[in-house]
Amino acid sequence: MRTSPKSGRNLSRFRDQFLESPDPVNPMPTQQTNRLISRRNFNTAIATSAILKSGTCSAQDQIESKTNWIDAHAHVWHPDTERYPISRNYKIEDMQPKSFTEKELISHCKPAGVNRIVLIQMSFYEYDHRYMEEVMRANPNRFSGVSLIDWNQRRLQAEVKKHRRAGMRGFRMHSRGDAGRWPSDANVRKLWSLAADYDLAICPLINPEDLEHIESLCKQFPKTKVVIDHFARIGVGGQIDEDRIQLLCRLANHPQTHVKTSAFYALGKGKPPYLDLLPMIQRIVNAYGAERLMWASDCPYQVQAPHTYQDSLDLINKHANFLSTDDKTAILSSTAEKIFF
Ligand SMILES: [Zn+2]
Repeated sequence: MRTSPKSGRNLSRFRDQFLESPDPVNPMPTQQTNRLISRRNFNTAIATSAILKSGTCSAQDQIESKTNWIDAHAHVWHPDTERYPISRNYKIEDMQPKSFTEKELISHCKPAGVNRIVLIQMSFYEYDHRYMEEVMRANPNRFSGVSLIDWNQRRLQAEVKKHRRAGMRGFRMHSRGDAGRWPSDANVRKLWSLAADYDLAICPLINPEDLEHIESLCKQFPKTKVVIDHFARIGVGGQIDEDRIQLLCRLANHPQTHVKTSAFYALGKGKPPYLDLLPMIQRIVNAYGAERLMWASDCPYQVQAPHTYQDSLDLINKHANFLSTDDKTAILSSTAEKIFF
């Protein structure tokens, strides 16, 4: 079935997609350090090769070589559903576009100077991480991962360890109207406690009304890192409410919390260059500080016409004049590096 991305029906489909969700191994300090070192060397190598390729070393080249950005939230999936089956709770038609492999993703990221990406397990694969893990194994320096975990299972700690060993650095928590029960749910509390033990972030995909429940969990588990997806979806209906911004800003009182400044295609007017989102971004920067914010595209949804990858990056890098160069570096790379790499 072919749909035009410009039709209202299809736009609302993309917004629906946007509403989708999704053992610390013994912390292994040596391995972890080696991983960090190898990634840093990789980045230096990229910067150096960019300069060498140009043949000169002008100031502009040096600036470009520093565009070593990180996209903190993107999805990949494979059109071969026999090899990588989707959950029976989803339909093949839910895969829109039909294919968005890591090669397709990189084709958007690379020209924009984005060298590293945090892959977020796609909801229609549910707990089957085969494809994402394969991609991560094949490109260990480029990708990190955030997975889906069933927190109601009996052997939760062993499962958490398994995800950590596979390279995952966080867990998605997608509220389907159940977030109000999370703060008192023994299994959710166990997950938050294990996440802190194994240095994994909790990444809630929630609505602004759910922020109070996250706040309650933050009070119970102050060591658990939290990364809120897509501004807690403020602006999804087109309306950016002051009350909701205040709720998100209030969560900043918990130093463990971070926010993804992302999914611009789906928020506010939903039209590039997304300038209507700047006042909200400025408020969030004032509350959290840039060092607790991270930019993300939410690909492939950000690259469906009329939206482009560069449009998303430009909102932070070109249009957010209230950000200093250091702020931009934090939002476009160092915050995500700290949490996910
Ligand atoms: Zn997403």
